[in-house]
Amino acid sequence: MPSLLEGKTALILGVANRWSLAFAIAQAFVREKAQLIVTYQGDRQKETVEELAKELGAQPISCDVTRDDQLTALTKVLADQGTVLNAMVHSIAFANREDLSRPFVETPREGFSLAQDVSAYSLLAVARATKPLMAPPDRGGGSITTLTYLGSTRVVENYNVMGVAKASLEATMRYLASDLGPSNIRVNAISAGAVKTASARGVRGLSEMIEGAARLAPLRRKTEPAEVADTAVFLASDLGRGVTGNVLFVDAGIQIMGFTRPE
Ligand code: NAP
Repeated sequence: MPSLLEGKTALILGVANRWSLAFAIAQAFVREKAQLIVTYQGDRQKETVEELAKELGAQPISCDVTRDDQLTALTKVLADQGTVLNAMVHSIAFANREDLSRPFVETPREGFSLAQDVSAYSLLAVARATKPLMAPPDRGGGSITTLTYLGSTRVVENYNVMGVAKASLEATMRYLASDLGPSNIRVNAISAGAVKTASARGVRGLSEMIEGAARLAPLRRKTEPAEVADTAVFLASDLGRGVTGNVLFVDAGIQIMGFTRPE
């Protein structure tokens, strides 16, 4: 089988460690022969991400997506070195841990705004910062992929403020798809089933949720990061050229299920 991303350059945001969905995506992109740039938030992750970047053969750059100056600097570094992007993967979210465990009705204004800023607005901010770097329409344009979760449209216990941020992220994805479509830039979201990562551990009862979903899902198993990563490859590749404005579920099918009797 030919390599699906040969000759393409991708920017992946959100690699924190080996368990990050962004790392699984980066590994799959390397397997398909993409050139990679990975970003991390700041000094706390610098050493780990630089090590992982070395392993991937990727260029690491620091970028906090809540800082406009850092987004401008990211654009400048990439433009100065002549990078032309074919794909960008946004794999970033954050909410205060307290806001994932208190009753949703008690969510304070600051916690609500923080979750929206980091987890939803950042998609728009990064799309704007990378638009000038995307390949021109007649050279294939670009693909932007973000990561979302079922808690955007269904109530998932303890997901709370992040569910609202994911609803906002999905709407942002659709408006961006409409805005950027004429430039042949496609924008999609992957709705991943629950996977144990650093961020997901902030959701109380995660292990029970994963086990329960594995029992109920049509495929009767949990979601593997590599399955999410392969869908990200599809979206970034020419195979995905007609797909934009979509939420693709990679969750062993759990999203279709209503009430079932426990086995
Ligand atoms: P993760 O490894 O913790 O990744 C989250 C990433 O967001 C980290 O790299 C984190 O960096 C980064 N981040 C947070 N604030 C940032 C900021 N201001 N600037 C730049 N980066 C920032 O967890 P993950 O589960 O792979 O999450 C990736 C995406 O998948 C998220 O959007 C998440 O909601 C989504 N998702 C996850 C699941 C799941 O079950 N794991 C399911 C569906 C969707 P730091 O570590 O430095 O803060």
